[in-house]
Amino acid sequence: MMKTLAKIVLVGLLAVTSIGSVTAQSIMSRDDWGAKKGIVERMKRHSLQEIVVHHTGVKQQQKYSLKQKLRGLQSYSQGKKNWGDVPYHYYIDMHGEIGEGRSLKYSGDTNTGYNPANRIHVVLEGHFDDEVPSHNQVSALAALVQSLQGQYSIPSSKISGHKDHVSTDCPGHNLHPLVLQMAAGQAANLAANYVPTCSGVLIDDQCFSLNEVYKLAQTHLQQQGCYAGAIDGDWGPMSRGSLTAYNDANGTNFSMESQSSRTQFVEHLGAPGSRFCSN
Ligand SMILES: [Zn+2]
Repeated sequence: MMKTLAKIVLVGLLAVTSIGSVTAQSIMSRDDWGAKKGIVERMKRHSLQEIVVHHTGVKQQQKYSLKQKLRGLQSYSQGKKNWGDVPYHYYIDMHGEIGEGRSLKYSGDTNTGYNPANRIHVVLEGHFDDEVPSHNQVSALAALVQSLQGQYSIPSSKISGHKDHVSTDCPGHNLHPLVLQMAAGQAANLAANYVPTCSGVLIDDQCFSLNEVYKLAQTHLQQQGCYAGAIDGDWGPMSRGSLTAYNDANGTNFSMESQSSRTQFVEHLGAPGSRFCSN
């Protein structure tokens, strides 16, 4: 109950559309997301021998749909980047929904100095040095990888992360160990064994970053008349002082010092009967 309330607050304040639990039952086709045709002259044919996992390297975007994300990536790829199509063969969004990317007939594209050919490129939405993959994303990844392995006879030893080939952060230190587990033949157990860790607040399997949580708290404290600073996600002396004032006015003892105390405060924001600071 509290979790649901907290989620509604987060949804409202962070302009989140919905935090659905989408499972990887199907793949959104290019037709479904309104893809333009790939520009064949710009792409090379190849064969399918390996699987390489990436992250988008950009924070998860809650306000856009998978369709919008894929269309945006395609117009950037074909326009600014002068590629034939999106660089990846599959895209797994923050909810674990999978979209069909570039035709498997053609090699992917890359901003880094390695050869993307003969590899199936799978990207997960997020920046996994800062964020953690959601459970749904990991389930979708494991299901997709196992399916591709079966279809194209790709052994687990041929599964890797981008950083295994060239100097890059991709796919981020919160995703790369999972890729290595699949490379060790553990894809079937990956999702069952995966517990997302979250440095901010984890609500219904969705990780909100510390910055988002601090902004949320600042917004709330401002609405309560306890905080007059900027909504900048920087939990400095002014923010801490405002939480103390809030606690004094409400007879509470909230803090932002640990994951559990932050979660308690965020959940409290959704509870009815919050009172205002006296000033
Ligand atoms: Zn990459």
